[in-house]
Amino acid sequence: MEKIRLGKTGMMVTRLGFGGIPIQRLTEAEAVKVVQRCLDLGVNYIDTANGYTTSEERIGKAVKGRRHDVYIATKTFPGDAEMVEKNLELSLKRLDTDYIDLYQFHSVNDMDTLNRILDPENGLYRIFEKAKKAGKIRHIGITSHQMDAAKAEVKTGKFETIMFPFNFITSEPAKELLPLCREHDMGFIVMKPLAGGMLDNATLCFKYLLQFPDVVSIPGIEKIQEIDEIAAIYEGPHNITSAERKEMKRMTDELGTRFCRRCEYCQPCAQGIPISLIMTFPSFVKRLPPDWYLKGGFIPEAMEKAAECTECGECEEKCPFNLPIREMIKESYSLYEQVKAANTK
Ligand code: SF4
Ligand code: SF4
Repeated sequence: MEKIRLGKTGMMVTRLGFGGIPIQRLTEAEAVKVVQRCLDLGVNYIDTANGYTTSEERIGKAVKGRRHDVYIATKTFPGDAEMVEKNLELSLKRLDTDYIDLYQFHSVNDMDTLNRILDPENGLYRIFEKAKKAGKIRHIGITSHQMDAAKAEVKTGKFETIMFPFNFITSEPAKELLPLCREHDMGFIVMKPLAGGMLDNATLCFKYLLQFPDVVSIPGIEKIQEIDEIAAIYEGPHNITSAERKEMKRMTDELGTRFCRRCEYCQPCAQGIPISLIMTFPSFVKRLPPDWYLKGGFIPEAMEKAAECTECGECEEKCPFNLPIREMIKESYSLYEQVKAANTK
C-alpha cells in the first residue's frame, strides 16, 4: 500500500489509515479481527481517542506482537492538566504500549482553548512536551472542526499534524488549510472522509481524496468487507470519470444544502443551543453505539437543549451555507426522541 511522509513527523504512513470510532459497536473479538484485517492489508496508521470508550483497548489487543509495524495516534480532550496527564497514562495502559506515535489535542475549535493549551506558564502543551521528552509520545498533533481555529493552529508552528474534516461535500480545506499545512510542513489527516456516514458512495469519496497526494484518510471501519472495499479503491485506478464527477456534483447539490460543516459561524445562539452538535446527531446514530449518544455526557445534554430553540432564525442569517437550521434542529430532535424511545423499551 502506498505510503506518504506525514509532514514534519517524518512518519511514512499509508495513505489509507484506520479510524477507530465504529469498532466500539462490535464485540471485542470482532473488533480485533477488523483491526487485524487492516494490518494484513498493509494499513499502518491507526487513529483512536481516549474518548472512544473500548476502542484503544481493542486496538492494543489487535496490534499485539505487531506494534512496531504500525503507527498509533490517539488524543485527549484539552481539559485540565490533571485530566490530560491521567488520560495519557490511561491511553498507554489501554493500548498496552510504552509509546504513542502521535498524541493529539482533541477537537480544538476556538481560540480560547488554543490559547489555554499554549499558555507559556501552565499550558497543556507543556505536558505534551514533557511526555515527548520522556519518550511516552513521539509527535504532537491537534484536531479541529472549525476552519478559523484550524488555520490559527497551523500558523502557531507548534503542532506536527492537524486532523480536519475533508470530503467532496466539505471541500473547503483544499483552498487554504491544506496549502497552509504544506507551507508549515504539517501532516494533514482527513477525518470524516465519508462525511460522517452521510455519503455512502465510497468510490467517489476516496477518488476525490486521492487527488491530494499528501493526505492520510482515516475512515471509520466496522466491517472487514468495508476495509476490503476501500483498500481496493486505493489500489485501483484513481482517475475520476466524467460520470463520477457529475454524480459528485449531484450529491453535493443535494446534500450540500442540508449538511452542517461545523464551522460555528452561526454562534452565538441567545438560547445557548449547540447548533452544530445537534445537526450532527444523525451521523452519531449511524456510527456509534446507542449508549454513547444516549447515556450521560455531552450529546444527550445538547439534544435536550434543542427543545429550547425559540425559532428566532438569527442563526440562519449567519450560516454561510444557508442551511435551514430551525428545520434541521427539529428533525434531529425528532430522531433523538425516536432512538431514545426505541432504546428504553
Ligand atoms: S433559531 Fe434556535 S438555534 Fe437558531 S439562534 Fe434562534 S434559538 Fe438559537
Ligand atoms: S449550521 Fe451553518 S453556520 Fe452553523 S455550524 Fe453548521 S454550517 Fe456552520
